[in-house]
Amino acid sequence: MTARSMSSTAKTNCRQCAPKPVTAITSCKGCSEDFCRKHFNEHRDQLSNQLHAVINQHDNILQGLQQQAASGTNTSRSQRANQLLQQVEQWKTNAIQQVMRVAKDATDNIERLFNTEIQLQELRERTRIITKELRHQEESDSFVETDIQRWTKQLEEIKIDATRPLPSEIQPPRMEFQSIPWDSIIKIHSAPPCTQTTNQAQATPTIFKPPHHLLHYYK
Ligand SMILES: [Zn+2]
Ligand SMILES: [Zn+2]
Repeated sequence: MTARSMSSTAKTNCRQCAPKPVTAITSCKGCSEDFCRKHFNEHRDQLSNQLHAVINQHDNILQGLQQQAASGTNTSRSQRANQLLQQVEQWKTNAIQQVMRVAKDATDNIERLFNTEIQLQELRERTRIITKELRHQEESDSFVETDIQRWTKQLEEIKIDATRPLPSEIQPPRMEFQSIPWDSIIKIHSAPPCTQTTNQAQATPTIFKPPHHLLHYYK
């Protein structure tokens, strides 16, 4: 053991001054290093510089976020959102048109089924033919018994047909509605959120594609 190393057990030397034996006057509670005055001041300056670097980093990030919020870098993101919103709007317009068309077809069908106008028109036409014939025969005076019988029979048939109910009145039509899977009509497939946890490759949006090559193998 030398005299120097023996004395160092009694008094602590500044690590920064080593190997020159300079007595440490204080220590840093953060890193437990012993320092002489000069090196303690240097150590504090160093820590101050590190703090300023952290403050700068913080300020830069905050400024970046504020700029992003103000617009600029968010444009491409809102463009994509607008595209998707437009697709939804387009789908809504189409869907409404389809609903209107299907409802109108059904309405037209129901009205046709319960419409007595067509039946009445047909009866009026049959009556009109007989009217014409009667007037003509009245003028020409050339009718015989069989004509009288025929007209009587035809008029009776018209009378019966006029009181005959429509098929839709005898047996009212029933309606069936197919249920529409509203909740699953629009599906939005979003990629998992990108978090910087590990060194793993960033998650990319997933595109689902059928494995065509496998299908070939299984043929
Ligand atoms: Zn020192
Ligand atoms: Zn320290």
